[in-house]
Amino acid sequence: MSNPLALYEFLFSAFAFALGAVVGSFLNVCIYRLPLDLSVNQPRRSFCPSCKKQLTWYQNVPLLSWLFLRGKCANCGVRIAFRYFAVELLTALLFLWTWKCFPWPMAIAYWVFVSLLVVATFIDFEHFIIPDEITIGGTVAGILASLAVPELMATASRGRAFLTSALSAALGYAVLWVVLEAGKKVFGKKRIHLGAPTAFSWTRKGDDADFVVGDEQGLWSDYFARESDQLILHCDEALVGDRNLGAADLRFHYDRVKVAEEELSLDSLDRISGVVRALEIPREAMGRGDLKFLACIGAFLGWRAVLFAVFAGSLIGSIVGLVTLIIGKRVWSAKLPFGPYLALGALIWLFYGEPLVRWYTGLMNP
Ligand SMILES: [Zn+2]
Repeated sequence: MSNPLALYEFLFSAFAFALGAVVGSFLNVCIYRLPLDLSVNQPRRSFCPSCKKQLTWYQNVPLLSWLFLRGKCANCGVRIAFRYFAVELLTALLFLWTWKCFPWPMAIAYWVFVSLLVVATFIDFEHFIIPDEITIGGTVAGILASLAVPELMATASRGRAFLTSALSAALGYAVLWVVLEAGKKVFGKKRIHLGAPTAFSWTRKGDDADFVVGDEQGLWSDYFARESDQLILHCDEALVGDRNLGAADLRFHYDRVKVAEEELSLDSLDRISGVVRALEIPREAMGRGDLKFLACIGAFLGWRAVLFAVFAGSLIGSIVGLVTLIIGKRVWSAKLPFGPYLALGALIWLFYGEPLVRWYTGLMNP
């Protein structure tokens, strides 16, 4: 540390890390409150999710508090999820890494961007949505950041940076829109052959219903994303209300079921059960939030990142989906979020995009 430059370097790096930890602490608040539509700045202080007691300042020091309290609430002793610590550490490391890789005006813009990626990832994993505050807000932030720091779009002209950023955002939205619409035609249904005839039941529960096939239980509304979605059960035996229909195909929409030529409103039924051989469930590859999220990625990183994030995200997502299915950590009906894989693709591009492009063009033009 005799060299003053090295000392400055060290101090700034420590500052970037500490700032990341503090921001990560705020991101935890966003991850918890945004999907519940709670305000992120009211109440000002963080509170224990279990006993609701407000945390004192020394119980709220990023990273350190979780370690010293050994992951428990000081008041009620309930476990505080490891996620809180993980988000703070991850954000701190990303801030530090960004600081090391980019000149400071770009680093500050990318701090905002990686924060958006962290929030989107953790909310999507838990709730299968990415809130508009993150996606639309992030797109606007990305376009404004490009106007302020045109280097983000690899140009010196503010006008050109603004335009590139806005068009890249539009491209991001459009690319996934096409994938979504095409995917609906091709993969819109997933046919599942059950190994052996399996008992199923549909039981009304308030405005919704429990849908059980063998050991798997799900909420009826979770299977349907749009009006035209159809869920088909090929049954060996079907009991609809108090009628035994024997072997039949039940064609469900969210609010009605069609048997042979007869259509029944599900509002008029309390229970449907029987034995099913195979079923077809509607499948949505991704949500509308993913379209807006990719727009945000485009606004910050440009059009090449859009294409790369879709490619890398799909690849990583498919591998994870396949592996978790094979090792039995996931059941066939489980949804897979796409946002976290898009975020990972964007991160890879942010830190390794340029070397990857050089490597690839080297392969093409040896
Ligand atoms: Zn507590």
